[in-house]
Amino acid sequence: MASNARLDHRNPLVFDTHELGRRPGALQRLTREIDAPRDLGIQGVIGVPEGTPVELDLRLESVMEGVLVTGTARATAEGECVRCLEPVELELEADFQELFSYPDADDRGRVIAEPGDDAEDDEDRYFIEDGLFDLEPVLRDAVVLALPMQPVCQDDCPGLCSECGARLADDPDHHHDAVDIRWAALQGLAGSTTDGEKDEMSGGAPQSARADEKQEK
Ligand SMILES: [Zn+2]
Ligand SMILES: [Zn+2]
Repeated sequence: MASNARLDHRNPLVFDTHELGRRPGALQRLTREIDAPRDLGIQGVIGVPEGTPVELDLRLESVMEGVLVTGTARATAEGECVRCLEPVELELEADFQELFSYPDADDRGRVIAEPGDDAEDDEDRYFIEDGLFDLEPVLRDAVVLALPMQPVCQDDCPGLCSECGARLADDPDHHHDAVDIRWAALQGLAGSTTDGEKDEMSGGAPQSARADEKQEK
């Protein structure tokens, strides 16, 4: 996480560790209510609408290599049922825990991760800059993990009628008497074959007469 932009302590997702101090074992609990940042959630599926409240409960613990942050975010997510497209709203509770390392941890040999030959490892690490840390990427990951990839309005949502699009949960007895045209054509085909066989056996009425009979039924 090599970010060139300095962290801004006025950003509501930036937290200050000065009060906590660097004595290992020191603890600080704090709560903060923030406005949800843009695109918090699974894009196009479900998420916390921008600007709606997100309640954060944090526990900061000073450890040798940095600050261990454990917390919970609570918010209301909104999306759409993947089966019936009705709006879905759910109370979200996302837990997270992340270590924010002091940038000098490497120098002092207090690294938790193996010294980074792996660039990916480094990207997954978070750092404290000037005593501040940015919770935003951690919050985003936690929220995405806590959200369903396929939200449904109810566990057994039957979805929509494939023929007319009616929402089946509203109308459990919903059905159509009219048979699908393609299916009717197949049935017609089967019927004429049977008739043909009968005709051969009995040598009976001509096809046209039989067809009329059938239509009268
Ligand atoms: Zn549904
Ligand atoms: Zn229908």
